[in-house]
Amino acid sequence: MSQELETRLRGPEGFGLARKAVEEMERHRVWPTTVNFELWIHYLADPEGALGQEMSRMLSAGTAFTDLVSEGLAAQYLPKAKLNEQIRDTGDQLSRELASVSAAIDSAKQSSMAYGLTLATASQSLSAEKDVASLEATVKTLAGATQRVQLENQSLEKRLSESSSEVARLREHLEQVRREATTDGLTNLANRKAFDEELERACVEAEEGGGFLTLALIDIDHFKNFNDTWGHQTGDQVIRYVASVIGRVGATPRLAARYGGEEFAVIFPGEDRQAASIALEEIRQEIGSRVLKRRSTNEDLGNITVSAGFAERQPGESAHSLMERSDAALYASKHGGRNRVSMADPLSNAA
Ligand code: GH3
Ligand code: MG
Ligand code: MG
Repeated sequence: MSQELETRLRGPEGFGLARKAVEEMERHRVWPTTVNFELWIHYLADPEGALGQEMSRMLSAGTAFTDLVSEGLAAQYLPKAKLNEQIRDTGDQLSRELASVSAAIDSAKQSSMAYGLTLATASQSLSAEKDVASLEATVKTLAGATQRVQLENQSLEKRLSESSSEVARLREHLEQVRREATTDGLTNLANRKAFDEELERACVEAEEGGGFLTLALIDIDHFKNFNDTWGHQTGDQVIRYVASVIGRVGATPRLAARYGGEEFAVIFPGEDRQAASIALEEIRQEIGSRVLKRRSTNEDLGNITVSAGFAERQPGESAHSLMERSDAALYASKHGGRNRVSMADPLSNAA
C-alpha cells in the first residue's frame, strides 16, 4: 500500500474509509478478501487514478471480480511497493555478498604478503645460518607458512565459487521479478505497463532510425454476451485462447500485449501496414474459424470473433496519436459489423 494511503488509514478518516470499502464490496457482491480490500481502499482513496478508472470501467461493465481478475488488477496496479521491496532486498543481498567476497580477497592478500615476508626473512637466514638445527627451524617455519597460504587459497577459492552461484541465483531472482512485473498473469502476454513502455521506445527508435512501425489493437466481439451466457471463468479461458493465437503471430520481434480486459495490442517494429494487415487477418481468421469447446464438459460454445484496427506510424507521430488512430480504426471495424480488420486514416497534417 502506498505510504500516503497507509497514513490516511491511520488518521481520522481511517475507519470511515475502511467501512466504506467493505460496504462498497458488499454492494457489488465482491468478497472482502485481503486483495479486494486493498483494491477497494485504493479505489475509494483515488477514484480518478489508473486503478480507480479501470475499476469503474469494470464495475460498470459488470465484470465479476473473481480471484483471477482481482489478482490481475493487483499485479498490474499495486505491485510497486512489493516490487521495490523485492528489488531492494535482492540489491542488499548482492552488496552483502560482494562485501564478504572482497573481505575474503583482502584477507588472502594479507596472508600472501605475510608469506612473502616469511620467504624473504627465510632466504636471509638461510644464507646466514650455518648449523643444521637453525636450518631445520627455518625450513619448518617455511613449511608452516606455505601450508597456511595454501589453506587460505583453498578457502578463498571455495568462497568465490559459492559467491558466484549466489550471485547467479540473485540475478535469476531479479530477472523473475522483472518478468512478473511486465507480464499479464492470465495470458502471459506483456502487460499494459510493458506495452506502454515498449510503444514509446519503438516510436523513438522509428523516429531516429526512420524505419516503419505499425500498431494494432484487437478486441473480442460481443464478449459481454459471451460472459453472460457462459460465465466469467469460461470467458477467462477464451481470453487465454485468443491471447495464445495473438501471442504466436505477435512473437518477437513483434510485441503482443494484453491491453485491458478483452483487448489486446500488437506492436510491429520495422513493419509496414501490409505486413501488419496480413498478420491481423491471420489472427482474425484463425480465431473466427475455431469452434470453442468448454474444457470441463466438452460443451459446444460456438465461435467468437475479433475486430482489429491498425495504424502505420507517420514521421513525427507520437505514441499517443498512434494509439488514437489505431483505436479509431478498431472502432470502425466494430461499426462496420465486427469480425474485420480496418486500417486507420492517415494523420491529418492540417495544423
Ligand atoms: P464489442 O463487440 O463492442 O467489443 O462488445 P463487448 O461486449 O465485447 O464490449 P464491452 O467493452 O462493452 O465489454 C467487454 C466485456 O468483456 C465486459 C466484460 O464482461 C468482459 N471482460 C472484460 N475483462 C474480462 C476478463 O478479464 N475476464 C472475462 N471473463 N471477461 C472480461
Ligand atoms: Mg469487446
Ligand atoms: Mg473492449
